[in-house]
Amino acid sequence: MRENKNRKKSEKEKKNKKLELLKNKKLLLIILFVFALITGVTTVIIVKNIKQAEAERIESEKRAEEQRLEEERLAEEARKKEEEEKAQVEAEAEAEAQAEKQTKTETPTTKTASGGNCTVNFGTLMLINPNFTVSTSWIANRKTQLISVSKTYGISEAKSSNGDNLMDSEAAKHLNEMVKAYESYNSGHTMQTRSCFRQVGTNCGRLCAKTGTSDHHTGLTCDLIDSTYGTELNTDHYSNHKEWQWLKANSYKYGFIDRFPEAWAGSSMSEPINVDANGSTGLFETWHYRYVGVTAATEIATGKYNGGKYDSLEHYLKSIKKVSDLKNGKC
Ligand SMILES: [Zn+2]
Repeated sequence: MRENKNRKKSEKEKKNKKLELLKNKKLLLIILFVFALITGVTTVIIVKNIKQAEAERIESEKRAEEQRLEEERLAEEARKKEEEEKAQVEAEAEAEAQAEKQTKTETPTTKTASGGNCTVNFGTLMLINPNFTVSTSWIANRKTQLISVSKTYGISEAKSSNGDNLMDSEAAKHLNEMVKAYESYNSGHTMQTRSCFRQVGTNCGRLCAKTGTSDHHTGLTCDLIDSTYGTELNTDHYSNHKEWQWLKANSYKYGFIDRFPEAWAGSSMSEPINVDANGSTGLFETWHYRYVGVTAATEIATGKYNGGKYDSLEHYLKSIKKVSDLKNGKC
């Protein structure tokens, strides 16, 4: 009985040992599996990191190269710009020197009555008429001192003339202000020039003047037209319309005068134009506006030296003692 009991106990111990061994084997397998898993994942992460670092290095090198090229490009651009500016400054200096040279050799202010006249020294009060004439070379030189009112201010010519819409820069600035004021007064209308500077005059009686005698040579004058009424200049057309009335009443505020008012046209209706000793102009052009500066324009328009009536430039210059003899062209 006791023997049997011992055998059973021994068998039970054997069984327990077997179970213990099996349990240990399983644990070992689990440990091995976990180890392999950790090793695998770690390897994958390390490889991934190496690849990423490599990609970042390549990208960074690429950016550095791009930046270098961009810096080179900017440096080249700056160098070119500097060269261009230098060339421009040199060209301007050259042009200035040329202009000065030309002015010295052929300045309007040094002309005498034989090839130009004394009144060209008067600046914006410059007087050119059949008794105060200028030479063709003086006129050609005057042209080089003018700017284009079309290009500078966008004021267009109603019809192309031989003057290229040129004008003295101070006069053009005031013309632009006057044109804008007229266009805002007469909404929807456009004021254009019909002719500003002219190198060559025309011989057609009391509506125009011959080369050397024309107020258009001064570069201070424009024939003006409201394009709504057409492109032709004629007295009837003008006196009936708003732009003539407005210009006559307001132009002096911008330094412009009606250069050839009807009251000063004189008795001569044909050649020779009668510019007499008293200041009649011999011309009647309702569209012809001349810049003389705001002070003189105000005194002329309000008739300071003509009993309150619109003056002529000739009579005004005699009144302020700028010229002594209108008939014989003497200052
Ligand atoms: Zn004119």
